[in-house]
Amino acid sequence: MKTFSSSDDISHEISQLKLKGQKIGFVPTMGALHRGHLQLVQQSIAENDFTISSIFINPLQFNNKEDFLKYPQTLEKDIPLLESIHCNALFKPDYEQVYRDKAEKKFELGNYDQVMEGKYRPGHFHGVANVVFRFFEIVQPDKAYFGLKDYQQYLVIKNIVAPLFKNLEIIGVETVRDENGLALSSRNLRLSKEAYKSAIQVPELLFQIRKKWDESSMDEIKQWFYTSMNDLPEIEVEYLEVANSQTLIPAEKSDEKSNLRVFTAFYAGGVRLIDNISLV
Ligand code: AMP
Repeated sequence: MKTFSSSDDISHEISQLKLKGQKIGFVPTMGALHRGHLQLVQQSIAENDFTISSIFINPLQFNNKEDFLKYPQTLEKDIPLLESIHCNALFKPDYEQVYRDKAEKKFELGNYDQVMEGKYRPGHFHGVANVVFRFFEIVQPDKAYFGLKDYQQYLVIKNIVAPLFKNLEIIGVETVRDENGLALSSRNLRLSKEAYKSAIQVPELLFQIRKKWDESSMDEIKQWFYTSMNDLPEIEVEYLEVANSQTLIPAEKSDEKSNLRVFTAFYAGGVRLIDNISLV
């Protein structure tokens, strides 16, 4: 695996590959890699000639300084993992290499910035959109891969950032879960035993909403979910929403079920986690 830390070097390498007609797949990450990340890289390897994964903890997208400072860093483990699945290149820039002296870009994020992650993490999607925009400029991918675990992020990239680049396709990859159903996340490394035990109950509660949707009102569902979550030690709910899977506008009971998703954010022993599933 080739490793790059200079933006100019990787841009140059990619331009050469593109001249030869090679298709470039790109998987941006913040490291502390797990099977979820590797699933994205493997899909990219299967669908492109050359796959680049990046590791960069983007300060611009953290609205909480402590979360940024505590974000796990496991580069010595990440590199062999990427090598083991034959990723072609790792791009591991520092802040200066990513942003240079470029001014922050202003994106019109609309409703995506008003609800759920947008509402509870002010400035988060501004930071995400800026860093992904810069990476797309540097890496010039044909296809870029994003996990549906971060569904709102996937929509921001697909509908707002990617259209600024010609012929760039955004691929959403299903959430990878651990053997107990918990969506894999780098933040899971920070869960205590007790917090983990509670967190693994949450996906099952989300799946139960699929069954409850037809027979209960939204208020009843929310009340049941909050009560069930409050019964779990160490858990504190931030939100539960059922929303349209394109606009993220809150669902009406008359909406076509196949267009809806269930979203939650919660704290498990002080660690903030998110999850979402389709309603059908
Ligand atoms: P992160 O390192 O958390 O910024 O994640 C990098 C990419 O991996 C993002 O596109 C995430 O949505 C994706 N990702 C993270 N966790 C999972 C998971 N459990 N399943 C699928 N994709 C994931």
